[in-house]
Amino acid sequence: MNEPLSPPTPVMAQYLEIKAGHADYLLFYRMGDFYELFFEDAAAAAEALDIALTKRGKHLGADIPMCGVPVHTAEQYLERLIRKGFRVAICEQVEDPAEARRRGSKAVVRREVVRLVTPGTLTEEALLEPRAANTLASLGRASGDYALASAEMSAGEFRVAAVAASDLAVELARLSPSELLLPDDMAAEPSLKALFAALGRALTVLPSAKFDSALGERALKSHYGVAELAGFGAFARAELSAAGALIAYLELTQKGKLPALGPLKRETARAFMAIDAATRRNLELNETLAGARRGSFLSVIDRTVTAAGARLLAARLAAPLTDPGAIAHRQDAVAFFVEDGEARADLRERLRQAPDIARALARLSVSRAGPRDLAALLHGIKAARQVRDLLNGRGENGEAGDSLAALIQAVAEVSSLSDRLSHLLVAEPPYYARDGGFVRPGAHAPLDEVRALRDESRRVIAGLEARYREESAVPLKIKHNGVLGYFIEVTPPYADKLMASGYRHRQTMGGAVRFSTDELSTLANRISQAGDQALAIELDLFEQMAKQALAAQAPLSRLAEALCVLDVASALAELAVSRRYVRPRVDASRAFAIARGRHPVVEEALAAAHASFVPNDCDLSGEKRLWIVTGPNMAGKSTFLRQNALIAILAQMGAFVPADSAHIGVVDRLFSRVGAGDDLAAGRSTFMVEMVETAAILNQATEKSLVILDEIGRGTATFDGLAIAWATAEHLCVKNRARALFATHYHELTALAGRLGGIACVTMRVREWNDTIVFLHEVAPGVADRSYGIHVAKLAGLPAAVVARAQEVLAALEEGREGHKPLARIDDLPLFQAAAPPPKEKNALEEALRAANPDTLSPKEALELLYVLRKKLDP
Ligand code: ADP
Ligand code: MG
Repeated sequence: MNEPLSPPTPVMAQYLEIKAGHADYLLFYRMGDFYELFFEDAAAAAEALDIALTKRGKHLGADIPMCGVPVHTAEQYLERLIRKGFRVAICEQVEDPAEARRRGSKAVVRREVVRLVTPGTLTEEALLEPRAANTLASLGRASGDYALASAEMSAGEFRVAAVAASDLAVELARLSPSELLLPDDMAAEPSLKALFAALGRALTVLPSAKFDSALGERALKSHYGVAELAGFGAFARAELSAAGALIAYLELTQKGKLPALGPLKRETARAFMAIDAATRRNLELNETLAGARRGSFLSVIDRTVTAAGARLLAARLAAPLTDPGAIAHRQDAVAFFVEDGEARADLRERLRQAPDIARALARLSVSRAGPRDLAALLHGIKAARQVRDLLNGRGENGEAGDSLAALIQAVAEVSSLSDRLSHLLVAEPPYYARDGGFVRPGAHAPLDEVRALRDESRRVIAGLEARYREESAVPLKIKHNGVLGYFIEVTPPYADKLMASGYRHRQTMGGAVRFSTDELSTLANRISQAGDQALAIELDLFEQMAKQALAAQAPLSRLAEALCVLDVASALAELAVSRRYVRPRVDASRAFAIARGRHPVVEEALAAAHASFVPNDCDLSGEKRLWIVTGPNMAGKSTFLRQNALIAILAQMGAFVPADSAHIGVVDRLFSRVGAGDDLAAGRSTFMVEMVETAAILNQATEKSLVILDEIGRGTATFDGLAIAWATAEHLCVKNRARALFATHYHELTALAGRLGGIACVTMRVREWNDTIVFLHEVAPGVADRSYGIHVAKLAGLPAAVVARAQEVLAALEEGREGHKPLARIDDLPLFQAAAPPPKEKNALEEALRAANPDTLSPKEALELLYVLRKKLDP
């Protein structure tokens, strides 16, 4: 027989109601000092966090699964959940439990969701990677036009750009958002599905109504408190849709506490070199093919000393510029720090001390800051002042000059804030305001007074213990705990004596009896009141400081921005000096002339092993804009190709480049592809993928593009591959007219050079020496005379028999080639002929062995045979 189902308890009813509104989130339901999770949420979180799953009461006749995390360590659990792809709704008690009790003994404390924690809206130090950006993006569409909006909450940046449908993938690769918002109708479109699938669980699909452009315009106007958006620029409807949806989402997740976003900036995709995701992966820009940050291009060029600087450098690497003027402006700053080594060293020393102002400010704007964030602002301002003094009067130097001007102004604007903070804050404040103790003694008279009262009472209590001992002649102690407050404690034998002397009994424990007196209670009260008062005063001061800091948000952001620009410029200068990089000439031409260029990462790796890198020229400026690069495996083809792509990226980031000189006409799009087989790590080594990607290049490359093709076509049978490589090279050269480097092991391809004026052949030089080969890693005009594959195989330790057999096969093939009917000759070589012995003179040893029949030999005969054989070996 079924038990009658009891209705949910009032707390459970409240829980279920709140949970119903946040189905896609794990609900962190605040109960006292814990966030509790129930039902499926509890099961999922317990598994993800590896914590105990327990039960609590019943719902509809079944146990309610439950787990919980303590509030004061909740951040670390949040971090793990977010990393595993969960989203979390934080539900707090929004009234004092005492207040609820006044409404009735059964009344439930009011609770509300105060924040939704999603990957793109994090602000906590513990939840963010210090040196990586955390971008929230949003995709809008209106009458066929697309736009992408993006916000970096912790930097206060907010941008929007119109994007052509064909560029969506490239733009998403550039932004590489932690979270992308998109309308449900677009999410369901077959043509876009692959694009979004690549972003994985960072997708947040919202009802398309949220992307209404009129709604978006209203959201933006109300966010910025303006009647017209014209002051920000003329936005297209798709842009309003994307940016408006993003603002609305921030409002939703932060429950109205909007982060401090700067003005909405319009970008145009054309301002940046387009680099698609495959190219980024291939060039190992942010991580190696194996997924490590170490060994990536970024890790090798990053000499920044602040986390904010590291984020800016990564952002610039993600989006090299296309405007020669803007590039030169950045180069000027790097050049200044290259020339003035003393300024560079001093600046870097000071920046090293600078805290992360931008992220402290972001926490402040969403009311998640603590005293330590205020201290970060203070130390940031101090660092800024020192930097200003250091650079002042050293001249106009591109963006370093802009930064100095910004610093001078911003530092002046925040001077009263910094006075206030340095007056009030202790040297090392605690993390949370609620812990108190962050206001410096002597800074605020009323606070000093209540603190004195508290401390004085403490001293009186200490005196009390001595007096009571003397009066009662009992070895009593005065102690304190969280439950009883102050109390007098004795061991049981003395209890009666104290009781008789009028001490008030409070508690009997196993080995102790606890008492109090009126005098002690009064003092204890005074202490606790004074403590409460002190904390209240401190919290009030915190609010005032936070308010003042928020009012100075604009100059603080500018100050933080200036510091990280200076960090990046001086870091690139440091790189240039320590690794001998030079300033490239970047203009609107179609030049690509690199003298003695090097590969930054390979050079660094070789240097660590005390080997040196062989520099190589590359010139695609003139008529010969496509180079076919041949050479044996391991000769350095891939390295040469990639170094030139990386040099183009560095140049357009505004950095110096590893070469003796470089002249680069701005590259609008950069493509890099490796034939299937090399790209193993990405697990996409299928020929199909290779062809899809090659198609993308042929469809998109312009005469301003730079294309790197590394052994394209080798993922299929020889002649298919050759045919595809041939047609691709022709198309690139004649139709796209792009500057290109094309590495291939199809020597036949070099015949193209004779037919097409735009193509030149170069080869990686090798020297034959004692039947083996030495790689010179030198690029020289011409064609590899042979592929040396067998030499390389030998170097790699292939068994001698296999190497010998391969040589025979090769000879046969080459004979066939001379006879101009290679196909027939290849067919003439049955694959398994290798199993048959090569026709060779038989030697005596072999003959004797063949004559022997082991089955019929006696042990003695066998031994004798062995002697015979041994003798034949060296007669
Ligand atoms: P390929 O693509 O021709 O097979 P790679 O470019 O992969 O050859 O180079 C193979 C190895 O040769 C690299 O890992 C590097 O150690 C070395 N190498 C390549 N280029 C150079 C160079 N210019 N100077 C010195 N060593 C080089
Ligand atoms: Mg290679």
